[in-house]
Amino acid sequence: MCDFQNFERIEIKTMDYNALADLLLPEITKTPADYEKIYKKRTDGKKVTRFAPSPTGFLHIGGLFAALISKRVAMADGGTFFLRIEDTDKKREITDGVSEIIAGLEAFGVTPDEGVIGFEKEQGDYGPYVQSKRKEIYQSFAKDLIKKGLAYPCFCDSEYMEKIKSEQEKEKVRTGYYGKWTRCRDLSLEEVKKNIEEGKSFVIRLRSPGNEENRISFEDGIKGKIEMPENDMDIVVLKSDGIPTYHFAHAVDDHLMGTTDVIRGDEWISSAPTHIQLFGMLGFEQPKYSHISPVMKEENGGKRKLSKRKDPEAAVTFYHEEGYPSNAVLEYLLTLANSNYEEWRRDNPCITNDKFPFALSKMSVSGALFDLQKFNDVAKNDVTRYSAEEIYDFVTQWSEKYNKPLYEKLTGNPDYAKAIFAIERGGEKPRKDIAKWSEVEDYISYFYDFAPTYEQMPEIGKENICELLTEYKKVYDPADDNEAWFGKLKELALSLGYAKNPKEYKKDPENFKGAVSDFATAIRVAVTDRRNTPDLCAIMQVLGQEAVSRIDKAIEWSKK
Ligand code: GLU
Repeated sequence: MCDFQNFERIEIKTMDYNALADLLLPEITKTPADYEKIYKKRTDGKKVTRFAPSPTGFLHIGGLFAALISKRVAMADGGTFFLRIEDTDKKREITDGVSEIIAGLEAFGVTPDEGVIGFEKEQGDYGPYVQSKRKEIYQSFAKDLIKKGLAYPCFCDSEYMEKIKSEQEKEKVRTGYYGKWTRCRDLSLEEVKKNIEEGKSFVIRLRSPGNEENRISFEDGIKGKIEMPENDMDIVVLKSDGIPTYHFAHAVDDHLMGTTDVIRGDEWISSAPTHIQLFGMLGFEQPKYSHISPVMKEENGGKRKLSKRKDPEAAVTFYHEEGYPSNAVLEYLLTLANSNYEEWRRDNPCITNDKFPFALSKMSVSGALFDLQKFNDVAKNDVTRYSAEEIYDFVTQWSEKYNKPLYEKLTGNPDYAKAIFAIERGGEKPRKDIAKWSEVEDYISYFYDFAPTYEQMPEIGKENICELLTEYKKVYDPADDNEAWFGKLKELALSLGYAKNPKEYKKDPENFKGAVSDFATAIRVAVTDRRNTPDLCAIMQVLGQEAVSRIDKAIEWSKK
């Protein structure tokens, strides 16, 4: 039997909704169907991921981490990774925000295949990829929801919102616009017209069909099955200026742009029921969600999120300024992302890390711990992989921007600089002592400016130092290879009365001037004014005649 009364009511409502939609968004003439035609469905079945930052002028290491993961997921499937700029919150935006994000991603090779690829530059068939340029699209989808009775205008001002909030707090119930608190849910067309005529501003809210008592579940790509209460909040989809909220823009954009996998920070998990509901109400296929736990830091025995305010290493610019190789940052982020990365790296020391079979399922559920010391170690390892030429290029590029005097030194005599960088590099066991380019200045300083204090000389008495240096100068031959060089040094030391090793010396200190190691230290300090340096034989070869002059200088000092 036909329920006449009810039928009539629906008929009238449907009519109202069309009129309401035209009243609220009169300039919007395109329909969702028009946009579905413009943005063709991607048909190759490959994964499409994206990075969707807000241009707040600060690329957080957690953002780079999320972007890297999104890119690797798409890459592993031969799919597409795109960059979308979410600039709907103009208050938080800064002038160079977008350029900074693009430069930040590019520096680490996390370049998008599609989307925003440069300043005011886009690539791909799903643009514009900047949300502020998509206002009409969102409004068209919102208008359609209004026509279907699934969204409505809300004129509640902040005063009313404050009022219900305090009442809700008094009643000890959830705060928000839902259930009996939704004052504008059923306004008549006349009431809406009157409000508009009176110049009252409004937002568009979703007419949520959800019920808090029901539970929904979804399979998160990282965290597994997640179960939560259904959304029953009438969330805002369009703000009073016609700009969408994150929730609405996310649904519309990721649908039209064909995103298959939404990989984002887990601060969005609590919104997932809203998003799932929105996709359903809009008739969109739901993307797969993967929520990344934040990058953490250990502090006083506990863990906390890496903070933009407290931790310089939270900003991607920190790594540029300090001169860490970009690849070292990537390497470390990959170790944080997949626990089997380190093992893969050990087994494949020479392959570029884009060959690593990245898996979302291997991501840590609880949050990766960023350990600056461990990162430094990874960086040192990374630096060992570069040739002297490459190091020279990296350091000059870095110092041109961050340390002009060093830049002048290096570029003043590139061959000399490269010879320095070649010491203990490229062999079986390259020296692991540089983690970042800002360390290079100190590392190589004695090759350039030599004002020795000789404070590091071994405690064997100036007389002995004078003798050993004078004798050593006589036998030193720059043409000797490392083995011959040390053979000579040792032979001379023994003949001048130095013990084979410190143990032997300690046993009978009366009988020796010192140990061979003291003998070698005296030469090292004479030439470098340091006790710890890379291979001294190689250093002396690079210094050439200067090494001999430095020995002379130390002899002079030892005579005083
Ligand atoms: N603009 C959002 C943010 O920066 C993007 C979240 C997402 O990836 O969906 O948090």
